[in-house]
Amino acid sequence: MAGKITVIVGPMFSGKTSELLSFIEIYDLGKKAYRVFKPHIDVRYGIEEIVSHSGNRVNAIVVKDPYEIFNHLHPEVKAVFIDEIQFFPSTLMEVVRKLADDGMDVFCAGLDMSYLRNPFQTTALVMAIANEVIKKKAVCHICGEYNATLSYKTVGDGGEIDIGGSEKYIAVCTDCYFKLMESRDDTVTRPHK
Ligand code: ADP
Ligand code: MG
Ligand code: ZN
Repeated sequence: MAGKITVIVGPMFSGKTSELLSFIEIYDLGKKAYRVFKPHIDVRYGIEEIVSHSGNRVNAIVVKDPYEIFNHLHPEVKAVFIDEIQFFPSTLMEVVRKLADDGMDVFCAGLDMSYLRNPFQTTALVMAIANEVIKKKAVCHICGEYNATLSYKTVGDGGEIDIGGSEKYIAVCTDCYFKLMESRDDTVTRPHK
């Protein structure tokens, strides 16, 4: 039987990794074999763990090329979990599709948009083939409403792909995002409006 693809997306701090961890717990409780992966580029916390902002963690296998995932599977593996999918090349979509075709449930989490509101291509592709897409929100760092869908970069250097946490990014709602962008200087590229 083919597996199901579930994708968890949203801005920074929206609980994507936490939700991924809660799906992992279901497979733990059911004593089912699974594998957890993350891209090599994401070295914010322990290299071989995925860690939520609230501090929960599980061991993960670090891969550079999505096709390396196949080297870490065996026939008993029932589910594959992948965090920070936006940092993988777009060939991740083919790998996710094959994993599901081979009967594994696949759970992916990642940013849907950069801080310039450009879609991350790999996330967009995986969303297209998913059975279920879960869009998460965060609490807006400016107005305090639970409606933040965007990540806003608070520092000026580093470019559009720039790994960081709360030292570089806040989650904001669209209205607060526009106000922040209007008032900022030119050290960060202005987004398309
Ligand atoms: P993500 O993977 O989407 O970045 P995490 O699952 O790692 O998110 O972290 C979510 C946790 O971050 C929340 O449970 C909360 O404790 C914390 N947090 C920090 N800032 C915010 C915010 N602005 N909105 C919501 N949660 C936040
Ligand atoms: Mg995360
Ligand atoms: Zn707001």
